[in-house]
Amino acid sequence: MAQQLNQAHYDVVVLGGGAAGVAAAAAAARNGRRTLIIEVNPILGGELLSGMSLDGVLNARGEYVVGGISDELFDECRRMNGFIGPVHDHRLICYVCVDPEIMKIAVMRVLDRHGVTAWVNSFAEDVVVRDGVVTGLVVVNKSGRTLVTADHFLDCSGDGDLAARAGAPFEMSDDSGDLQPVSLMFRVGNVDSATLLRFARENPASMAVGESDYIRGDKTDEQLLDLLVEQGQPSVFFKSEGPFLGDAIRRGDLAPTALIMIQPTSAARKEVCVNATRVGGNIDGTDTAAVSATVGTLMEQVWQTYEFVKAHLPGFEHSVFAGLAPRVGVRETRRIMGDYLLTKEDVVSGRKQPDSAVAKGAQHVDIHQSGTTQIRIPIANGGSYDIPFGCLLPKGLKNVMVAGRCLSATREGMGTARTMGPCMAMGQAVGTAAAMCAERGDADVRALPVKELQARLRAQGGVIDGVY
Ligand SMILES: Cc1cc2nc3c(=O)[nH]c(=O)nc-3n(C[C@H](O)[C@H](O)[C@H](O)COP(=O)(O)OP(=O)(O)OC[C@H]3O[C@@H](n4cnc5c(N)ncnc54)[C@H](O)[C@@H]3O)c2cc1C
Repeated sequence: MAQQLNQAHYDVVVLGGGAAGVAAAAAAARNGRRTLIIEVNPILGGELLSGMSLDGVLNARGEYVVGGISDELFDECRRMNGFIGPVHDHRLICYVCVDPEIMKIAVMRVLDRHGVTAWVNSFAEDVVVRDGVVTGLVVVNKSGRTLVTADHFLDCSGDGDLAARAGAPFEMSDDSGDLQPVSLMFRVGNVDSATLLRFARENPASMAVGESDYIRGDKTDEQLLDLLVEQGQPSVFFKSEGPFLGDAIRRGDLAPTALIMIQPTSAARKEVCVNATRVGGNIDGTDTAAVSATVGTLMEQVWQTYEFVKAHLPGFEHSVFAGLAPRVGVRETRRIMGDYLLTKEDVVSGRKQPDSAVAKGAQHVDIHQSGTTQIRIPIANGGSYDIPFGCLLPKGLKNVMVAGRCLSATREGMGTARTMGPCMAMGQAVGTAAAMCAERGDADVRALPVKELQARLRAQGGVIDGVY
C-alpha cells in the first residue's frame, strides 16, 4: 500500500483518552483551543471504563480534593442514573463509584459539549521533534498515516509514549526491578448486598478494615464493619491474611492475590466490580507480546474467581456474570522525569506546596506485588497531598506536558498519584495550561506563571487549597 502522509493541525493535541486525557482535552477546549484527542481504543475512557472505583477524588475525611471536569463527568453519570457516589471503605479511603457503561456516554457528552474532536481507533506511532519542540505526531488508523501538528502536545497515554519518543528521560520500576502485576477486572450482576454485608460483619477476621490510623481511631473491626453495613453499599475487601480468601488460595481454589475487592457499579443491575486477578513477574506494559501473553491466564483467573464467589460467597448465589473490563489493566510503566519529582515523603506526609500545586491526590501509596503481597501506606491524617506543576513538565521538552499515570514521580509517588482522581486533576491542569500558553502567545510551558494557572483552575472548579 502506498504510504501517503495526511496532514491535520490543531491548537492542542492530547494523546490518550483515559481519565487524564479526557480532562485535558475538555479543559483545553473549554478554554478556547481547537483540540484533538487521539485514542487507540474504539471507545474513550481508558481505565475509567474498567468498573473500578475512582480513588483519590476524595480524601479519607470525605472532602472532595478534585473538581472541575470530574464534576462534569459525575453530573452526566448522575443524569443517566449511573452515579453511585462517594463510598467509604472504612479501611483506607473514600472513593466515587460510577456505572462504567454510563461513563462511556458521559465521557463523550463532556467532550462534545466543549467541542473536542476525537479520533478513535488511532495509534500514535512517532513524534517529530526538534530542539525540544515537538511539532508533529504521526498517527496510524484506517485513513492511513497522518502527521498531526499542534502548538502543544499533552501526553496522557499512561505509558508516556509521546514524551519518551520525543526524548524525555523516564524511569520504570526502581533498583528492585519490580513492576506491579497486571489485572483484569470483571463485573457480576444480581448480587444481594444485604447478604454480602451480613457475611462480612459475621467474619471480621476475613475483612480488610481500619488500615489507617485516621480511619481506625479507637474502633474495633466489628465497629468498622457495622459502619460498612450501615452504609449499605456492596463495598467489601477480603484480605489474603484472613481465612475466607487465604484458605481458598491455599486450597488452590483461587490464584494468589492480596485482596478480593468488591465495589458497586450499578444499583439497577445489583452489579459489582471484582478486582482480584493478577499476573506478576514484572510484566512490562510497554511490551505488547508480554501483555498479550497474560490475557488467557487473566481470563481463566476471572472465571475461576467468578465461580468461586458464586459457590462460596453469600450474596452471590443468584449472581450472573456481567462483563469484563475492556482490556488488561496495566498499573505501572514509564514515569516521565520532569522538573519536580513527587516523592514518597511528599505524599505520605500530605505535603502542601502552595506555590506550585496544580492538582491533588489522596489515595494511600498502593503498590501491588506478586503473590499475596501489596504495599499500602496511608496519607497522614486522612488528608491530601499537592501535585506541583513541575511533575507535569518533562525535562528537555518545551511544548509538551504529561498528565496521569506517567507523571514525574518516584515509584511510591506514582503508586498513589496513578489513581483516577489525581489523573483527572492533572489532565485539567495541563489542558488549561496549554490554552493559557496560547493566550499569552508563548508556546514555552515554563513561561506560564503558576499563580495564573492556579487562579484559572480555581475559577473552573479545580481544587488546589481549602481541604485537609
Ligand atoms: C488493574 C488496575 C486496578 C486499578 N484500580 C484502581 C482503582 O480502583 N481506582 C483508581 O482510581 N485507580 C485504579 N487504578 C489506576 C488507574 O485506573 C490508572 O492509573 C489511571 O486510570 C490512569 O489514567 P491515565 O489517563 O493516565 O491512563 P489510561 O486510563 O490508561 O489512559 C491512557 C489512554 O491512552 C491510550 N493510549 C496509550 N498509548 C497510546 C498511543 N500510542 N496511541 C493512542 N492511544 C494510546 C490508551 O489506550 C488509554 O485509553 C488501577 C489500575 C489498574 C491497571
